Amino acid sequence: MVSVRMASIHESTTMKISAMAKRLSASGQDIIDMGVGEPDFDTPKHIIEAGCRSIQMGETRYAPTAGIPELRKIIADKLCRENQLSVTADDVAVTPGAKMAVFAAIQALLDEGDECLLIGPSWVSYEPCVAFAGGSVAWGRVDEDFMPSNLAEGISSKTRLIIVNSPSNPTGSVFDRKVLEEISDLAVDHDLYVISDEIYEKIIYDHQHISPGSLAGMEDRTVTINGFSKAYAMTGWRLGYLAGPKEVMKWVTRLLSHSVSQATTFVQRAGVAAMQGPQDEVAKMVAEFKARRDLLVKGLTDLGIECSVPGGAFYAFPNVSELGGGDAFTDRLLKEAQIAATPGSAFGPYGADYVRLSYATSQGRISQALKRIEKITK
Ligand code: PMP
Ligand code: GLU
Repeated sequence: MVSVRMASIHESTTMKISAMAKRLSASGQDIIDMGVGEPDFDTPKHIIEAGCRSIQMGETRYAPTAGIPELRKIIADKLCRENQLSVTADDVAVTPGAKMAVFAAIQALLDEGDECLLIGPSWVSYEPCVAFAGGSVAWGRVDEDFMPSNLAEGISSKTRLIIVNSPSNPTGSVFDRKVLEEISDLAVDHDLYVISDEIYEKIIYDHQHISPGSLAGMEDRTVTINGFSKAYAMTGWRLGYLAGPKEVMKWVTRLLSHSVSQATTFVQRAGVAAMQGPQDEVAKMVAEFKARRDLLVKGLTDLGIECSVPGGAFYAFPNVSELGGGDAFTDRLLKEAQIAATPGSAFGPYGADYVRLSYATSQGRISQALKRIEKITK
């Protein structure tokens, strides 16, 4: 019925679990949703107002494929100022969500038969996007703190691309300069592209975010991706962007022109307000995420469940190999404790011993979840 290529692609586990948790809650069950990675905060008011104003002003028509000039310029300035990249507005394309940016960049960079190196447990959508392009994935090893270890082993004559995602979904690990320099040395030595997915850039605790594209030799081989979903609690607005070498961006924009056309015009105006307006709500959200992280990681550790301290994003990724492994324990969490979580296996073979717990939920719910976990593990 459908193409072989489509038939090889699984539904997104994170999206599936999110839908299931909503369904169970709607049916009256008291589900604690630690499944999906979606901030539980509302979009800041000044951003909503900017979007509404734009609709009311009649900005309801098509806009240029790569985005409205004002937003592209603000994004380019941000990337230069905060990320030390040298890009201009012409090197930026705005997309309906960072997910589309990931999809488009991978399609532009991979040929049939090419390999893409993913580093340890990696976000659910990278591998399917590689498969859509006709490529395949090699999995690079990580150590117990989810830092790359011997990545060179995963590189073959077919490797063309490495995807870096720091802070990481699902592990929360943050790569420091030394780790990123090792990756960039590999990229330069083997003439590889790097996609740097920086969607959790702002959700970072006691660490400094570094963009691989700013490192020596990386300017012409890095595509940097970011978006508004996480930092500004704008998941449903669907707004992201990417910036990279001119030749790559030319094909990315062509792909966008034949698929999505553009990100929604008035949503882009909301994006302008998000980036130009006050950033104090971002800081407030991050402070709250940090308190939740501390509560959850301490609680799990007190229960004897091994969990490294995530330096960013809003996920804890405890090792549950002694509790039956990731798949079985995720199942028990739902059936016996009414906690929706994501099995580590959704993030590739190196995730199988783990479960991902999203702490984008209140401290009260996290405390309740810990009590329920204690009950089923005692
Ligand atoms: N990259 C990562 C690592 C993510 O976790 C997400 C979350 N959905 C995305 C990209 C895409 O974000 P969005 O499409 O909502 O902007
Ligand atoms: N990125 C989030 C997650 O991992 C949202 C769902 C998705 O886009 O996959 O849960």
